Amino acid sequence: MTVTAPSSPILTFDVNQLTPSFGYVFDARWLDPYESVVSILWKFVWMNRLASHEVVERIARQTVDPYAGMPATPQNINAQYLARTLRIRRQTVREAISLQSSLRSFSPELRYCSRCMARGYHSVLHQFGRLLICPLHARPLESRCRHCGQSSPYRIDAQLLDAPFKCPHCRAPYSPSWSSFAKRSALGKRERQALIRAYIG
Ligand SMILES: [Zn+2]
Ligand SMILES: [Zn+2]
Repeated sequence: MTVTAPSSPILTFDVNQLTPSFGYVFDARWLDPYESVVSILWKFVWMNRLASHEVVERIARQTVDPYAGMPATPQNINAQYLARTLRIRRQTVREAISLQSSLRSFSPELRYCSRCMARGYHSVLHQFGRLLICPLHARPLESRCRHCGQSSPYRIDAQLLDAPFKCPHCRAPYSPSWSSFAKRSALGKRERQALIRAYIG
């Protein structure tokens, strides 16, 4: 079923197996603390040239229409499968799909900081209803694309995953200075602490 030449970076899922015939390219060092599951999946799809609708189907706990998608919650996403497939800590995935509670509400729209997007980072913190500015850059969070003016629901769906760090409507990058996250420098101690403080609230 898998039609991949060994030299090709293109991978497809083997429909008969839970895992692909070849390993995926993924490096935990591409991630910053509290990276959202959308951001993690953008990197996964992008670096492996995966079909985003297949990824949605694979990570869903229940049968899902990948184009209708699903909310990014632990009830919908198979965190164990995702951690195993990407070879990242389960805790990383758990934080990426934080639970909504009476103390913590989420924005239903994708919210972003363009400077974070420039480093290839979207944080679960950006979705916290009570946070209106980016904890790293102290800039107001945005929800509308600067190019086409449309917002996007914060959901795991094929259209969103197919446009890594871009508006899924017009495909303009959320940051005009977007550069490869694989080459960016690591966050400093101060920046990490700012994220932890914002997470704990
Ligand atoms: Zn930021
Ligand atoms: Zn747009």
